[in-house]
Amino acid sequence: MIQGSPLYKADYTPSGVEASKAIWAGDNIFSYAIAALGQDGVRVYWQLQPTLPAEGNRFTVYRNNDRGNGTWEQIGDPVFDTWTFLDSTVQLTGKFPYIVYKIRIQNDRVDAESSEIYLYGGLTPRQRNLAKAILRRQALYARHNPILQGYLLKRKHTGVRCSCVDPSTKLVLNSDCTNCFGTGFIAGYWNESVTQTLVATTELSAVPVFDPNAIFGTTTKAIIKVKMSGLPPVGMYDVWVHSQSNNRFYIVDLKVSAEVGGLPVQYDAAMQLANYKDIIYTYRI
Ligand SMILES: [Zn+2]
Repeated sequence: MIQGSPLYKADYTPSGVEASKAIWAGDNIFSYAIAALGQDGVRVYWQLQPTLPAEGNRFTVYRNNDRGNGTWEQIGDPVFDTWTFLDSTVQLTGKFPYIVYKIRIQNDRVDAESSEIYLYGGLTPRQRNLAKAILRRQALYARHNPILQGYLLKRKHTGVRCSCVDPSTKLVLNSDCTNCFGTGFIAGYWNESVTQTLVATTELSAVPVFDPNAIFGTTTKAIIKVKMSGLPPVGMYDVWVHSQSNNRFYIVDLKVSAEVGGLPVQYDAAMQLANYKDIIYTYRI
């Protein structure tokens, strides 16, 4: 059982999975920034460099419809302390490959703009087609395997340390902490969960964790293997919530199974069911 991952260290260093994203519009402020087609528009995802304060940030997103040559238009209202923004106003027909985004970040130390963020980063048309083909294959594969609808909760790896963290070992001492949900950082997860659809590769009849009526004890060790899209970017110990049952899972293993031009297009992951007493069930989505 994981229970807020008691062995989780709050000074976690990003894995290779995260590092490979660093080329995506990364600069001295953003370690990456990516724009991708989502279900309801274009989603922009970003991660700040660890040198930036993780809290107190205001983000304003701008779009340019002509590869940066046209005028920059502010999209929606600024957002605060989050990792993602949905542009639902974009016209997805015709011109979408030419749109470019920029994020302005403001806090009490910094007022700066990101590099230009292209849809699917700097992929060439050929690479973009390759990425599409990989995802199409995943969709085909899904015809023979269960598809699971849910939400991804993006775990904080930076921010204000919670008082439950041991100052010298950086270990989270209280896995049931209601201030950080066992992550060691206040609030635990970034604002705004995003939809993340999975394809199960484990025989689900063997682990009936998707039954909303099933009740699991504190010793349940159900591990599910899944495939998922590389966007949104996923990290170790992020949480995936199954919409139908509200069962919650920690991502306990993560491998990039397909990569195009440095962009993780697909992950193979293992997820462990959080037992019903786990603090993660008190996190409100
Ligand atoms: Zn805490």
